[in-house]
Amino acid sequence: MDFELSQEQKAFFKEVKDFAEKEIAPFTEEYDRNSEFFWDGWKKMGDMGLLGLPFPEEYGGSDAGALDTAIAMDAFAAGGGDAGVSLSWGAHTIIGGVPIWEMGTEEQKMQYLPPMSTGEKISSFGLTEPDAGSDAASIKTTAVRDGDDYIINGSKMFITNGPICDLCIVFAVTDKEKGAAGISTFIVDRDTPGFEVSRELDKMGNRTSPTAELAFTDCRVPASAMLGGEGEGFYGIGKATLEWERAIMVAPAVGGMECNINRCIEYAKERTQFGRPIGKFQAVAFKIAEMKCLLDASRLLVYRVAWMKDQGIPAMMEACVCKLSVTENCVKVAGEAVQIFGGYGYIREYPVERTLRDAKLGTIGAGTSEIQKLVISRLLMGKF
Ligand SMILES: Cc1cc2nc3c(=O)[nH]c(=O)nc-3n(C[C@H](O)[C@H](O)[C@H](O)COP(=O)(O)OP(=O)(O)OC[C@H]3O[C@@H](n4cnc5c(N)ncnc54)[C@H](O)[C@@H]3O)c2cc1C
Repeated sequence: MDFELSQEQKAFFKEVKDFAEKEIAPFTEEYDRNSEFFWDGWKKMGDMGLLGLPFPEEYGGSDAGALDTAIAMDAFAAGGGDAGVSLSWGAHTIIGGVPIWEMGTEEQKMQYLPPMSTGEKISSFGLTEPDAGSDAASIKTTAVRDGDDYIINGSKMFITNGPICDLCIVFAVTDKEKGAAGISTFIVDRDTPGFEVSRELDKMGNRTSPTAELAFTDCRVPASAMLGGEGEGFYGIGKATLEWERAIMVAPAVGGMECNINRCIEYAKERTQFGRPIGKFQAVAFKIAEMKCLLDASRLLVYRVAWMKDQGIPAMMEACVCKLSVTENCVKVAGEAVQIFGGYGYIREYPVERTLRDAKLGTIGAGTSEIQKLVISRLLMGKF
């Protein structure tokens, strides 16, 4: 067992971290305040090859593998890269991209992955609906066959990149008798008549990542827009993206913890109360030690799943353990960072309050913490 990253991986971590420090972090506060998508940063990420990291080179990607993708997402956040940008990146490359790469036809891969790798086209993932969140198999959006086409009707809720996307992977029922096995997915271009951003949602955190409710009204797509076979939407995409979504996509939470700990160390050495730096008080110093333990455990959990994915070892249990632990750890670390900063931690001119707002989404999106516990306990105990 080797826990050491290669020299190339360490250099890659440093390269991405330096990029985030220089090109993203200085603008984060302003974009968060304005709730604005950071187009300049996005283009630079595309130029650097970050947006198509896991895709094969023949589709414009960087052929990076799951571990290297996790390293990049971790490093980006460790360099102060904004969580909203990371969320949009994950929604685009991971849940909005990996299904096309893993399940798409040659034509679909050639059409979408090269412009997605440069950032020229932005992807999104449309599963959740106003009345179907944790119980995602109960979606109501339908896709009805009509000659060589399908006609999609329904709405999608909380869709990351919804307001700015060029395409959306839309989950729709094609055979309602079959339950989850009757759900199919379609790649729907934004300019398809009947595809509408019905409203943009104002959020507590991750404010630089735009989120929308989408409406599909008699939205006609060719049968060739189907991703995977009929009925393969729910289980097929779930299988293809499980480890990606529940481990690699949470890698920014790890780097975010590292960044917060560094802020706390600096602050605890500088801030003086009762005639000494607050870091000299054991109550503060021990918080930092505990935060470091949460960080190291989280990084190992993410890298373990990424490594397993690269080895072709199924990791459903490990991915759920990772998603649950890392996102909850990130909230704890952000909360303690606010505490260490005291009153200043609650004020917007210091970045730690933003990290707490941002971190909370991790325990909700992509399967809530309760749902991860449900899956883990079922895997452990089976049916009894
Ligand atoms: C900012 C943001 C971005 C998102 N991006 C996307 C996206 O790009 N694409 C997409 O498809 N979705 C996206 N989502 C949706 C996200 O995945 C859902 O919000 C999440 O799955 C939870 O669904 P829900 O919000 O409907 O909550 P609900 O399912 O209504 O859950 C409410 C509460 O009940 C609990 N609960 C529900 N069922 C159970 C159970 N069986 N046992 C125990 N507790 C239970 C939940 O844990 C939660 O605490 C996003 C959400 C947000 C907030």
